[in-house]
Amino acid sequence: TFEYAPAPESRAVVDLKSSYGLFINGEFVETDGGSTFKSISPATEEVLAEVTDASPADVDKAVAAARTAYSRVWSRMSGADRGKYLFRIARILQERAREFAVLESLDNGKPIKESRDVDIPTAAAHFFYHAGWADKLGFASLGADPKPYGVVGQVIPWNFPLLMLSWKIAPALATGNTVVLKPAETTPLTALLFAEVCQQAELPPGVVNILTGAGETGRALVEHEGVDKVAFTGSTAVGKAIARAIAGTRKKATLELGGKAANIVFDDAPIDQAVEGVVNGIFFNQGHVCCAGSRLLVQESVAEEFERKLKRRLETLRVGDPLDKNTDIGAINSREQLDRIHNLVRIGEEEGATRWSPECELPSNGFWFRPTVFTGVSQTNRIAQEEIFGPVLSVLTFRTPQEAVAKANNTPYGLSAGIWTDKGSRILWMADQLKAGVVWANTFNKFDPTSPFGGYKESGYGREGGRHGLAAYVRTGADA
Ligand code: NAD
Repeated sequence: TFEYAPAPESRAVVDLKSSYGLFINGEFVETDGGSTFKSISPATEEVLAEVTDASPADVDKAVAAARTAYSRVWSRMSGADRGKYLFRIARILQERAREFAVLESLDNGKPIKESRDVDIPTAAAHFFYHAGWADKLGFASLGADPKPYGVVGQVIPWNFPLLMLSWKIAPALATGNTVVLKPAETTPLTALLFAEVCQQAELPPGVVNILTGAGETGRALVEHEGVDKVAFTGSTAVGKAIARAIAGTRKKATLELGGKAANIVFDDAPIDQAVEGVVNGIFFNQGHVCCAGSRLLVQESVAEEFERKLKRRLETLRVGDPLDKNTDIGAINSREQLDRIHNLVRIGEEEGATRWSPECELPSNGFWFRPTVFTGVSQTNRIAQEEIFGPVLSVLTFRTPQEAVAKANNTPYGLSAGIWTDKGSRILWMADQLKAGVVWANTFNKFDPTSPFGGYKESGYGREGGRHGLAAYVRTGADA
């Protein structure tokens, strides 16, 4: 038998303060009329820190600081000099990677092996990549005479707190914009640590401002008249509300919204490798991933074998302490999200799909959900159409590639998809047919700053990453 030996990462590497102000004009300041809220660890429900809920007056101050920094400093600086600051930030993120990883796992609930090996290194990579662009924008084919927008208001979700921050801040700064960013209310702590990094890098005051708070702060920020461009990542419902709120204003917007990706397994795929990919596709980060492979489409001739192997693999996953290096599945980020998952899973059962989870003990405190698989799912079931944003996989079958494409495209979303097959020609044909911004072949959830990421349909518009991501932060030609 296998003896399980916990390998806990030390939380002592994080120097948590009991309370945090807002980061405006290069300094941590107290709120002007706002209140506070608690950031808790979803794995234990302990309070990690008291954080500021920014007021409209704080939003005014942060936007004014970003405007002054834009017109007096950042827009006048050469691209090469802007690039040096981005390089510095990237290096500091690498140097402080362990601290960031532990803090991210504490605040978000994700396994330390993911924050250590994916979130933090990829965030640093985004700053390195965009540092390289800052003095080469003339080669980026951005159209005639690209100009920064000015002040960008950015709002991000809780599933990849530092990584989403880096996707937002790095391209905005490289192209010469200044930023006011609001992290999600359940995961503000790595954004506040990032503010310290800005100080350490001696970034000119006001170039980056961080406002913590809830949806109301986000709304005040994106609707603020001093904001020239909005970049939002989050739910489709809030994305639509933002698009309505800024319609008819001069503001441009990039919206990165939800998804319901299909992971499509053909009978000629290397099955064991595909099982690993499907498990990673939906159970990585507890399924709190916009591009999660939440629907498995498996070819009928291998469906039985695949399901058997999938279940056997799920029995080996470890659910528990996010700071244990052996943990595969951490905590659900909040009670609210846990309730949403329970609700959709109940609906899946009521709709007649068959629910299965491996036996596993869950910790008594905190928010937890067992890895879950639904078989016998039909296309019209809500669990096949709606984003669950949790560790829940819906299994459907198909017979022909045409049927796989039709089923894969049959949701309101179009963010990502995965194909598992031995045939190169099929990969190319499928990639062309699938209405998805990203199509992975014989892999899943691979992210790289050089590749543009973004959606079709209700998954939003605009791209982040690559040369395309820069275009979202500049006016060109007639627009300038
Ligand atoms: P959410 O939309 O509830 O919240 C996202 C952010 O918006 C939070 O910071 C929140 O405080 C803020 N907010 C809420 N109401 C607002 C308003 N009216 N105006 C401005 N800001 C407001 O989403 P969430 O639950 O935090 O995140 C999960 C969602 O994010 C999922 O749907 C997921 O698919 C999506 N997501 C998409 C991508 C992508 O790149 N496409 C990446 C990660 C997450």
